[in-house]
Amino acid sequence: MFALIDCNNFFVSCERVFRPDLEHKPVIVLSSNDGCAIARSNQAKLLGIPMGAPLFEIRHLVKTYNVEVLSCNFELYGDMSLRVMNVLQQQCEKVEVYSIDEAFLQFDKSINWAEEGERLRKHVLQCTGIPTSIGFGPTKTLAKLANLQSKALGIACYIDSTPVHHDTLKNTSVSKIWGIGANLSKSLKQQGIYSAYDLMLADPSWARRNYNVIVERIVRELNGHSCMPLTLIQEAKKSIQITRSFFEHVKDKDVLKQAAARYGFRLSTKLRESSQKTTTLFVYGRNSPFRGETPVFHQRTIVLPEPTNDTAVIIQHAQQAIESFFDPTVAYHKIGIMAVNLRDATQPGAHALFEAPKSAKKPDIDKVMDTLNKRFGLGTVRPLSCGESIEWMNKRDHKTPAYTTNWKTLVQVKAK
Ligand SMILES: [Mg+2]
Repeated sequence: MFALIDCNNFFVSCERVFRPDLEHKPVIVLSSNDGCAIARSNQAKLLGIPMGAPLFEIRHLVKTYNVEVLSCNFELYGDMSLRVMNVLQQQCEKVEVYSIDEAFLQFDKSINWAEEGERLRKHVLQCTGIPTSIGFGPTKTLAKLANLQSKALGIACYIDSTPVHHDTLKNTSVSKIWGIGANLSKSLKQQGIYSAYDLMLADPSWARRNYNVIVERIVRELNGHSCMPLTLIQEAKKSIQITRSFFEHVKDKDVLKQAAARYGFRLSTKLRESSQKTTTLFVYGRNSPFRGETPVFHQRTIVLPEPTNDTAVIIQHAQQAIESFFDPTVAYHKIGIMAVNLRDATQPGAHALFEAPKSAKKPDIDKVMDTLNKRFGLGTVRPLSCGESIEWMNKRDHKTPAYTTNWKTLVQVKAK
């Protein structure tokens, strides 16, 4: 038996944990640079604010209905996600973290799903303050569908392929099935398959012939035959990328180099967090695709002499790349650094063959920096090349504090 547990309106729910005054109010969270709505409370959804709506297009709704507008606070969401997943891992032996706000769990067939589901929802809410939905089923695909129902009803739900559930499956559009995207659902509808029930009745080999093995697998899963086991071990990332758009266009080389340093700093931190090293860096810069200028895309690929996750080395290469492609006539809108060809840092192959690691004798500055930043908040200690301000160049006018990861912004409680 599988379950999918999904945090409701996750980013908004994280904000509400520390701002109870936002409960029952329409709230939206914006993407970086305060561009578009990327999370909406139920109240905001009811006002007709669509997912991804640019802020300037919904200003009238925000004003008329007093919608609370927040900048994204990914530090908070990341930490809250970790807390939710930790609680789940304490409660269930088999947990697959599927995304920042979703996890698949596996249980024995004989569990009382209704009881277990309510118990888990209550427990997660009590430990983290985050409301969730939970759907059960004999396969991941069915558990995912049951989760949709749970979201609508506010209780734990279960779906399988037996006749009791046929009505529910008939009322579920084929487009709602996990793995069926917009194009696929359009094509399926042309073949007369409109609902989850229709797809369940399809012939698996027909699905494979006309589409692919994934659609075949979905048909089998809808019939209760599990084809997708739980992935308990998270696959190591194959690449890590740090990229941001600037709020204003940048024509100053030093400013770009400072951005490169910041992204290089983030990138190397992420590599160390996942115990990985990179052998190749890809650095790029481009202008805005929306200003009617001729598109410019500068790029450099740097093959490193040895695998590394050293902040100083990565920043140095990133800045050299900027230096080499910088063109003063270009208004840069975005730069990015990508680490590809990643290696497991704990493996001996991650070091150069004949050389002792160069940093062997110097104190491990990165380690000290990571420890301090983990304790006092990201960017507390950082290379000078990153510049002075932490909230740099990105527009986040409505950001709430990093309540859970920064001592300086802890909530203060006063007793009278
Ligand atoms: Mg969610």
